Amino acid sequence: MSFRLSVTSALVACALVAIFPSASLSAPVAGAPEFGYEALNGPTRWAQLSSEFRTCDTGRQQSPVNLNPSDVKTNVFPTDFALPSFNQFEVENKGHTIQFTPKDGNSRGMTVDGSKFTLQQFHIHTPSEHRIAGKHMAAEIHLVHESADKKVSVVGVMVEETPQDNPLWSAALSNLPAEPEAKVALNAVLDTSEFVNVTKSSVFTYMGSLTTPPCSEGVRWFIPATTVKMSIKQLDTFVSMIGYSARPTMFNENVKEPTKKAAAKKEGGAAKKEGGANAREGAAGGSNGAKKSVERGAAAGGNGNGAAKQPCPPGANNNNGGGQQNGRVTAVEEDEEDEE
Ligand SMILES: [Zn+2]
Repeated sequence: MSFRLSVTSALVACALVAIFPSASLSAPVAGAPEFGYEALNGPTRWAQLSSEFRTCDTGRQQSPVNLNPSDVKTNVFPTDFALPSFNQFEVENKGHTIQFTPKDGNSRGMTVDGSKFTLQQFHIHTPSEHRIAGKHMAAEIHLVHESADKKVSVVGVMVEETPQDNPLWSAALSNLPAEPEAKVALNAVLDTSEFVNVTKSSVFTYMGSLTTPPCSEGVRWFIPATTVKMSIKQLDTFVSMIGYSARPTMFNENVKEPTKKAAAKKEGGAAKKEGGANAREGAAGGSNGAKKSVERGAAAGGNGNGAAKQPCPPGANNNNGGGQQNGRVTAVEEDEEDEE
């Protein structure tokens, strides 16, 4: 499998960045060792760090995934999605991510499969965790929603690198807490309109999991095919603080990965045209998948095994994942060889 980068950051094997505490998408497990993205505590080791994490290894509906452009769909994103800009918010440096939590009391959320989900926070991964036709983007922002019965639904927004600063990020980026576990409370505007705009385009949706331990399944994902923008400088601000923070793409029985042909056809990235008409495949990851989805946190052990043996990325020592590097990535492309 060949692998190429569109930016100059050096590809670093598996030994990467930091050892950091629990991820923002995960429920903390008392007494569990800290996971991270290094060789010894990285994604291939998560299941061994705690019995609470074994779904990371045994799960069959894991996230992130490599998305097939033909599975992009229209008319599947919740029509009541509400995301007013933040007027008061807290920014927390969680070591492996920067998390933004609204504190202004405004209502933000959406209805998914008949249940109301409320926005809890959003945070960033560098580079993107999901791939589209094999491509990673520079970053991915996860808008994490939770229902009253603790189910999770995430809107994963891909971030594309642009030369110019995106002014929407100015206030937030100029006040980031530098030290891990530090928090900053801001009375400033964090304009979320760009997030809202991309959800009006086609989206991918499927049933997957948390991308960090305990890797619980039953998570409904929405990935807009359209990206938001951030400058190199702005991205580097995040990268310099959190480093590499993306789990490799995983096996998920709800998602048919792109074939080499599909990936080639979509050269250039975001899926657009093939969408609507070809929604059947994706449906397995949508409504059907939802019905049989496993409750959050209850999936361990029940799904057989053999899934998701995806340790290091290409260029390191296996053929999955992609884009694992100690730095910023604009887009990473893989030639799919045997994936179907
Ligand atoms: Zn996340």
